[in-house]
Amino acid sequence: MAIQRPDAVEHSDGAPAGVTDRRGRDMRDLRISVTDRCNFRCRYCMPREVFGPEFRFLPRGEILTFEEIARIARSFAAHGVRKIRLTGGEPTLRADLPGLVRMLADIAGVEVALTTNGSLLRDLAQPLRDAGLARITVSLDSLDDAVFRQMNDTDFPVADVLAGIEAAEAAGFRPVKINAVVRRGVNDHTALDLVRHFRGSGHIVRFIEFMDVGTANGWRLDDVVAGAEIVARIHAETPLEPAEPNYPGEVVRRWRYADGSGEIGVITSVTEPFCGGCTRARLSADGQLYTCLFAASGTDLRAPLRAGASDAEIAAIIAGRWARRDDRYSDLRSQATAGLPRVEMSYIGG
Ligand code: SAM
Repeated sequence: MAIQRPDAVEHSDGAPAGVTDRRGRDMRDLRISVTDRCNFRCRYCMPREVFGPEFRFLPRGEILTFEEIARIARSFAAHGVRKIRLTGGEPTLRADLPGLVRMLADIAGVEVALTTNGSLLRDLAQPLRDAGLARITVSLDSLDDAVFRQMNDTDFPVADVLAGIEAAEAAGFRPVKINAVVRRGVNDHTALDLVRHFRGSGHIVRFIEFMDVGTANGWRLDDVVAGAEIVARIHAETPLEPAEPNYPGEVVRRWRYADGSGEIGVITSVTEPFCGGCTRARLSADGQLYTCLFAASGTDLRAPLRAGASDAEIAAIIAGRWARRDDRYSDLRSQATAGLPRVEMSYIGG
């Protein structure tokens, strides 16, 4: 295989040249799952019947070390990745997460973000900030304690997540983005509470359509509340107007309150898929590269890394895989795609 030096080509502004897939999509974002474990058992993600005591999570030796993650991340950065998001599983379960953030934040031109369920954020927000974390997204599906406990299926109280969000704010994260997955008949009746609570706070609630990720969550189209319906419900109470994307290809559709009191977003990967603008690569906790959230298999980066491959060789594998990328699962979602194998979101990282 011809090896391309990762830093061989540069744009005139000094930024490394990107790599483009078969559909003309650049590789700009990397989601890194740092663990496949989670302390919640949200039914739409890690239902207890599947992820119970018998479930075999990745053994420690199969999980990338921080040094391995940082090496791989540098190779992605050499091919144009500008944003790294740490996810999982629950990333804050990984010991010394700030240590990893520090290593990644040292990569020139890269912004490091985190998606977390917020359960451990009260103590971790400040150390993460000090380590160079730029942004935090907290998943919070309802403010109603009973509904929230039912959704996380671990009896975890909503007050502790709210305390985590406050700690994030105090540490200087602003805005905090709040992700709420909406399931019809489960928490959709509490969506407006989230709007009322966070409106005017500077934080941004984003409603996510329940997706058919993995094969464990019993997904049915009937359970999806379309982003358009959520927007209409909010608009009926508090008038909204569309806002421009912050950058081309932004996944969230932004809506601002007409009275200037903030904004909300909807992520409509089921009803209005956005594969055409997808610039995300994903790295599983055991070092597999995936180019789609709905993929069945990945490309192993850990084996070459542990066999002594150079940074340039790792970068070449990444670039080659991205250049061959052709996937657009959500655009094609149908009866025909329903039975296809897919990795679980807790493994690949949300
Ligand atoms: N544990 C962290 C958290 O809770 O944010 C990070 C991993 S979690 C898999 C990342 C995001 O994926 C969360 O916001 C979660 O709500 C979302 N998610 C998981 N399963 C989903 C599904 N079936 N449909 C839509 N979003 C989902």
